[in-house]
Amino acid sequence: MSVDLLIRGGTVVTATGRTVADLAVDDGRIVAIVAPGTPFDADATLDATGRHLLPGLIDVHSHHREPGYTHKEDIVSATSACAAGGVTTSFAMPNVQPPPNTAERLASMIELYEQRAIIDWNINAAGTVLDEIPELATMGIAAFKVFMVVDTGRDYPHMPGIGVHDHGDLLRIFSKVGATGLPLMVHPHDQALMTAIEERYWDRGERDFRAYAKAYSDHDGIIWDTATALLLRLQKATGTQLHLLHTQTQGVIEQLRRAKANGQAISAEMNPWAVFLGNAWENIERWGSYALSYYVPEANTEPLWAALRDGTIDLVSTDHAPHTREEKEPGWTDGWKAHTGTPSTQFYLSMLLDASADGHISLERIAEATATAPARVFGLGDKGRLEVGLDADIAIVDLERSYEITDDIVLSKIGWTPYAGRHVRGTVTHTISRGEVVYEDGQVVGRPGRGRQAKPTTAPITSSTAA
Ligand SMILES: [Zn+2]
Repeated sequence: MSVDLLIRGGTVVTATGRTVADLAVDDGRIVAIVAPGTPFDADATLDATGRHLLPGLIDVHSHHREPGYTHKEDIVSATSACAAGGVTTSFAMPNVQPPPNTAERLASMIELYEQRAIIDWNINAAGTVLDEIPELATMGIAAFKVFMVVDTGRDYPHMPGIGVHDHGDLLRIFSKVGATGLPLMVHPHDQALMTAIEERYWDRGERDFRAYAKAYSDHDGIIWDTATALLLRLQKATGTQLHLLHTQTQGVIEQLRRAKANGQAISAEMNPWAVFLGNAWENIERWGSYALSYYVPEANTEPLWAALRDGTIDLVSTDHAPHTREEKEPGWTDGWKAHTGTPSTQFYLSMLLDASADGHISLERIAEATATAPARVFGLGDKGRLEVGLDADIAIVDLERSYEITDDIVLSKIGWTPYAGRHVRGTVTHTISRGEVVYEDGQVVGRPGRGRQAKPTTAPITSSTAA
């Protein structure tokens, strides 16, 4: 048999196990997974002896910043960082300018991605303009996204046009999105409580990064818990598939467990910062706003790992959110003036592999949470597993090779990472997208414009409905 690429002797990892095998790729697809040494006539051969093959990561929550904020990141830099991190599909969030909340705006954003993306991609349209929702749903997207954040003092990163807090408006959106059959992603937030909490800090003259961190986790994360309670109830009322973003409190985990036990159509994500960054107060003292996405007090760390292991949290997505140093610096004195969010797409696989070496999570569960589950939840039937017939999206990793994360190796435009200085066990040596090597040994070699929209091909399935 003649094939385009033969990857020899690696350990192929799937959600259900691992096996040493040769993996053959032809025409962008996996065509054989066979015993090592099986004869093939291959145009190219890659020796993966001693390394592991994971399904290419599918990140359903990333901020690529284009159009509108290309001083922070753009499609080329974001998808370069993805390629270096083993990510073969990345979904962009809609807080760009103009936000993709109409068919016309989404169409022009799709055009940009077709010209510039190095890996496969999709765009989570903003589901905030009711009349546009049906047409947006026909444009190959895999989900809608709504932020419940509507703080008026700031126009970024939650600008007008993408935030909804009014419960009636949320009900309308749930119903309209539900009719399309696509999942609705929501950033849970209780703006009314947050406003009251913030005022208390400000009245005491507390405005720095510490106050900001604590405000968002006030009363054991009350703003996350009450918002989630509302969203789960709206899900139940409408039947719309809900994907809950930013799982970070024990209160949310308990609610997810109950809702899933009751068969609700929900999925949930955890972001790397919840267990690798914002969960240690020393990181926040040291890095200030550079460490904030959000402060997730350490009592939540073990429950989060446990919920990820047992599937209460279905998947890991990055919430990759680059901001420049200039946008972070004001946080030392006024946390509310710094832009919220942290970058992570280039290093989260390495950090998960490192956590795996420490026993927090198995390699199989990493494969499932970073690829198989996102593909299932968002209907990417051709992706997410190392199986014959599926897209040859593969991350090859060397678990023995460790490295130090430094600002120097950051491919994101901002040139810094809050994970700098960490030594991680687990190096991505190659990233393969539909059979084509897009990253090897430290170099992104994929061409901008080769990436394709990763359109859903199967019905979205949440883990509770899959059981
Ligand atoms: Zn985000």
